[in-house]
Amino acid sequence: MEKPKLIVDGKRLDGRGFEELRPIKIEVGVLKRADGSCYLEMGKNKIIAAVYGPREVHPRHLQDPSKAVIRYRYNMAPFSVEERKKPGPDRRSVEISKVSREALEPVIMKELFPRSGIDVFVEVLQADAGTRTACLNAASVALIDAGVMMKGIVTAVAVAKVDGQIVLDPMKEEDFYGEADMPVAFLIRNDQIESIALLQMDGRMTVEEVKKGIELAKKGAMEIYRMQREAVMKKYVKEEE
Ligand code: UDP
Repeated sequence: MEKPKLIVDGKRLDGRGFEELRPIKIEVGVLKRADGSCYLEMGKNKIIAAVYGPREVHPRHLQDPSKAVIRYRYNMAPFSVEERKKPGPDRRSVEISKVSREALEPVIMKELFPRSGIDVFVEVLQADAGTRTACLNAASVALIDAGVMMKGIVTAVAVAKVDGQIVLDPMKEEDFYGEADMPVAFLIRNDQIESIALLQMDGRMTVEEVKKGIELAKKGAMEIYRMQREAVMKKYVKEEE
């Protein structure tokens, strides 16, 4: 198919400005059997995250006597995408699971839970670009809901270059037809961005554009962070009343 115009009269295809996020919805504690859970929508992405643990690790030889073992499984439901996805892990989901686990590990206070395991399962129910970042946002909230002690929170968002412009939180058409896509995850601590926990890019951008993209991702991540915090507060303040 021929590439459509992605920016018309200074607006994106869905009417957003360059620095605007898609609408976000976050609900905490949606699954009864998980220790912590979160349902998150970011535009048309629909994600469920479930956290189990800290709990005993099986098989036992996987235990670490000095700290908790973190496992993260990103999974895309066959019906989540336009062209049915074959069920089960593939190269892409194995890679996303690995980098996402590595993004989360530094914030989890693993030394507090020797020999135990913390399992994070993230299911993409509907995908529209930016699922790895949306999943990390949901996983972070689910970890908090599970009461896992953390040094901060991981908040993620992608930026892209489309029709020569650097834009925040690309949707499917922008991801597909754009010049570049760059998911970024930040470690946020004491209400401030402390470091980058994940940074990937495909396509091509100048060094200046990458710098601009990171600044834009920082702004977007702080907005998402406030929503994550608000969602957690909403659940726990309500429970205390
Ligand atoms: N996608 C798809 N089928 C697949 C994998 C991806 O249709 O098997 C779509 C889906 O909408 C996804 C988007 O392509 O969100 C972009 O995928 P990418 O690998 O860039 O990861 P994401 O942006 O979701 O983190």
